[in-house]
Amino acid sequence: MKIETIAIHAANHTDASSKAVIQPIVLSTTFERSADGTYLGGHIYSRASNPNRKMLENVLAQLEGGADAAAFASGNAAGMAIFQSLPAGTHVIAPDDMYHGLCNQLKTLFSDILTFDFIDINDPHILQNHIRPETGLIWIETPSNPLLKITDIKKVIAIAHAKHIMVACDNTFATPICQQPLALGADLVMHSSTKYFGGHSDLMGGVVITGEKNERWLKIRQVQEMGGAIPSPMDCYMLARSIKTLPYRMRGHIHNAQLLAEFLEGHPKVEKVMYPGLPSHPQHEIAKEQMTAFGGMLSFCVKDGQEEAKRVINSLKLFTQATSLGGVESLIEHRASVEGPDTKTPLNLLRVSVGLEHIDDLIEDLSAALG
Ligand SMILES: *Cc1c(COP(=O)(O)O)cnc(C)c1O
Repeated sequence: MKIETIAIHAANHTDASSKAVIQPIVLSTTFERSADGTYLGGHIYSRASNPNRKMLENVLAQLEGGADAAAFASGNAAGMAIFQSLPAGTHVIAPDDMYHGLCNQLKTLFSDILTFDFIDINDPHILQNHIRPETGLIWIETPSNPLLKITDIKKVIAIAHAKHIMVACDNTFATPICQQPLALGADLVMHSSTKYFGGHSDLMGGVVITGEKNERWLKIRQVQEMGGAIPSPMDCYMLARSIKTLPYRMRGHIHNAQLLAEFLEGHPKVEKVMYPGLPSHPQHEIAKEQMTAFGGMLSFCVKDGQEEAKRVINSLKLFTQATSLGGVESLIEHRASVEGPDTKTPLNLLRVSVGLEHIDDLIEDLSAALG
């Protein structure tokens, strides 16, 4: 099946008793046991499994071409489940521009349990030099946040797998519509489903998808069921509902982002645009290899520094100044001030989550704000 069809059908089944076409939301926390001790519905207790979560996990696994998926209450909970599944003392290699929330999580919550290096993962020599006998996980995030840097997924995987090291990819920015890391050889894919999967900035969620149901996967499943950082049946329903339109929403995000990137690149007040769909992007060729489209996120640097960047952001009418991404409405943010004083993000950088408004209105707004 093609991805548009999977998105619509893989999370839904007609209810057996009521014949409701759309799967009902099952709020019950507990499920009836038969006289012989079995559970005919396949569920026992909602922390371990729930019909809505099961169908959500089904569509998420199929969208990424995976063998199974585990849904969590947030993207950070999904990432954390991967770290928690690692034996104590494991060494983790992650990019130096990893999503700051997960980077902080490693440094704050795992400092006594794991060791880690944050490096330029795109340099094979640096990567090789940091691999140790106890390295158990290499983390990839591509396109990266907020610089939209591209990691050559196949190249990193070749280096990792030669040493039997697992590779996990945070695919939040790309979505499976633009990039499918499992098909390129990754072991695990992680998403913040708060972003494009949810798509309407009104729910939190996360997911880990595995290429293979193996020992490691069992451990992640245990972290989910025993740790209990699960999404509610309502959140699972909302997410499954949103996913039905994901492929079509992504077409709009991709279309608008490309045109907005081209407009900004030609604007005299703009110093630089970072979007993997622009031929000027330093890794455009790698992006073309491993992505089928370039996503809806872009960043740009405004000429004349931080104050001018802040003036532009405050002059916009359609773009809302807020963090997060992937919703139907366009958002813009001054990333350095979100990341705090030790940020490496340029002070004049603005990150845009390009929404689904008409592109002419978005360009008109940015054009007026830039002056
Ligand atoms: C938002 C985000 C996360 C964290 O997800 P939450 O749902 O906010 O917990 C992880 N990675 C990336 C790339 C993100 O954008």
